[in-house]
Amino acid sequence: MPRSLTAVDPDVAAAVADERERQESTLGMIASENHVSEAVLEAQGTALTNKYAEGYPGDRYYGGCEHVDEVERLAVQRAKELWGAEHVNVQPHSGTQANMAVYFAVLEPGDRILSLSLSHGGHLSHGHSVNFSGQLYEVEQYEVDPETGYLDYEALRERAEAFDPDLVVSGSSAYPREFDYERFREIADAVDAYHLADIAHVTGLVAAGVHANPVEHADFVTGSTHKTIRAGRGGIIMCGEEHADEVDSAVFPGAQGGPLLHNIAGKGVGFGEALEPAFEEYAARVVANAQAMADRLRERGLSLVSGGTDKHLLLVDLRESHPDLTGKAAERALQDVGVVVNKNTVPGETRSPMVTSGIRIGTPGVTTRGFAESEAERVADLVADVLDDPDDEAVAARASDTVDHLCQEYPVYD
Ligand SMILES: *Cc1c(COP(=O)(O)O)cnc(C)c1O
Repeated sequence: MPRSLTAVDPDVAAAVADERERQESTLGMIASENHVSEAVLEAQGTALTNKYAEGYPGDRYYGGCEHVDEVERLAVQRAKELWGAEHVNVQPHSGTQANMAVYFAVLEPGDRILSLSLSHGGHLSHGHSVNFSGQLYEVEQYEVDPETGYLDYEALRERAEAFDPDLVVSGSSAYPREFDYERFREIADAVDAYHLADIAHVTGLVAAGVHANPVEHADFVTGSTHKTIRAGRGGIIMCGEEHADEVDSAVFPGAQGGPLLHNIAGKGVGFGEALEPAFEEYAARVVANAQAMADRLRERGLSLVSGGTDKHLLLVDLRESHPDLTGKAAERALQDVGVVVNKNTVPGETRSPMVTSGIRIGTPGVTTRGFAESEAERVADLVADVLDDPDDEAVAARASDTVDHLCQEYPVYD
C-alpha cells in the first residue's frame, strides 16, 4: 500500500502544508516568483525523478530512456514554438546553470564579459565576484544613466570599445525597462563579441509577444523557467544550429550530470499551457497590472527607478520620499501585513546589499491569482499607506484586512 507523505514524514509534510498556506494567505510579489498550475506540480512530483538519462533524447548513456526521451522532446518542441529558436536545451537545472553552460561553450577562463552591474539590475551569474562567473572571467560592467534610470547605449558602446569583450550580456533581474536587443547586437558585432540575452525574468512576456524577442539578435538566449513563464523551477538555453553541439556538451558533460526529468516534465507542461491563447492575455495583464501599480505609487509620492515600467516589475527608490526608511525595513513592514516583496539595491546605492534603499515589486504571481488593474491599485495604495506609516498599528491592521480579503477572493489553488 502506498503511504502518504503525511504518514511517512509528518514533519516535512507539515512544513510543506505551512508553505502552501503561506502562499495562499499572503500576496507573493517577489518579481522572480510565480505560481505554477496543479498540472505542473503533478508532473514534477512523478516517478521521473528515479530515472538517469545522461545524454540527449535518442542518444543516452543508459537504457530504459524511451519514455523520458518523449518527455524531453515534448518540452524542446514546445519551447521552439514559444520562442522561435532553432535549437533548445531544456536540461539546465537553473538559470545560473544555463549561463554557466553558455560561458563554457564559447569562453576560456580569463576571457572578457561585459554585463550590467548588479546594483543597476544585473545578476550574480553575469560576473559578480562572489560567483564562479566573476572568478573565472574578466568582467567589466555597464550601468544605467543615473539621471534617467534608463540604459545609456552610447556609454555602453564606448565601454565595449574600450574593454573589447568576448561576450556582451543583455538582460537583468531588476531593470524595469525593455532591452533594445538590436542595439546590443550592433555593439557586440562592432567589437566582435558574442551576444548573450538572458531573459530569465521575461521568458513569459517574450513568449506571449508582449516583450521583444531577442532570439534573432543574440547568439544565445538563456532563461529561468519558473518566473513569468510559469513552468516550474529550472533553466533553458536557446541558440542557432551552429552552436547546438557546443551548448549541449557544455551542459552535459561540461557543467552537469544527469538531467532532472521530473522538472523537464514540468517545463513541458508549463510550456504547453503557455501556448494556449489565454497565456497572451495573462502576460499582457501582468504588464498592465505593474503599470497600474506604478501610476498609483507615483500619485502617492513615491519615486520609481526610470519613472515606471515596461514589464512585470517596479523598483521603488525610497531615498527621496522616505529617506529614513531602508529597503530592509520596508520589506519587513510589508511582510508584516502579508505583502511579500524584496529589498533591492537601486542605481547609485549607498547602503549595503543587505539593507538597501529600494524595494522590488512584481506582478506575475498576483496576476496568476486573477488580479486586474483595480486590485493592483488597491495593493499599491496599501503599500503606500504602510510605507508612509510603518509603525502605525491601525494602518497595518487595515492593510492586513485588505490582503486577507484579496487572498480569499483570489485563491492560488482552489
Ligand atoms: C533569476 C535570474 C537568473 C537565474 O537564476 P536561477 O536562480 O539560477 O534560476 C539568471 N539571470 C537573471 C537575470 C535572473 O534574474
